[in-house]
Amino acid sequence: MRKISYPRILVYHNLQDRKLLRSVSEPVVDFGDNLKQIADQLKIALLSAPLQVGMEGVGLSAVQIGILKRIFVVFFDDGTFRFFVNPKIKPVGDEKITDTEGCLSIPDVLVPVPRYEKIKITYQDLEGNTYKEIYKGFYARVIQHEVDHLDGKLIIDYSQGNVNLVNKKGDQRDSNPRPPAPQAGALPLSYGHHRKAS
Ligand SMILES: [Zn+2]
Repeated sequence: MRKISYPRILVYHNLQDRKLLRSVSEPVVDFGDNLKQIADQLKIALLSAPLQVGMEGVGLSAVQIGILKRIFVVFFDDGTFRFFVNPKIKPVGDEKITDTEGCLSIPDVLVPVPRYEKIKITYQDLEGNTYKEIYKGFYARVIQHEVDHLDGKLIIDYSQGNVNLVNKKGDQRDSNPRPPAPQAGALPLSYGHHRKAS
């Protein structure tokens, strides 16, 4: 049987990966084949998340597979993948909700993160067409999480310094990690997810 390959999801506990995860991604200017390849890689990496980091994901940003471009993918409840290129978000109203998030790049860490309940996003698709849409609740949270990635920001930045960043398994995690036990009310993003939590 042929070995299936997929782009490696960068993880915070690897110092080289961390440098990239902390970088600000560049706007996409070329909407050619290269962008479509990045999109495919994002989709494959997101689908392979349970194999790689032991969690399912709802969203993934290019920086998480080492590509510093402003694009991320979100997997929606209806079974579709949508790609968001050069996204710009604005809150609609000022209501914020705090809920627990995880991140595929920081496995086994959950942080309560306040997010706007409702946002407006302007973005481009893979062809460069521009869209404006409103999201609320769970997907508004996913999108805010992914946009943070494009700016080098991570869920641990929202913690009050009480998150144990030293994963006990550290770099010696076995190659077939078990998923963490689901936690009540948890909405792990990048979004690792036990996704019916919302
Ligand atoms: Zn994430």
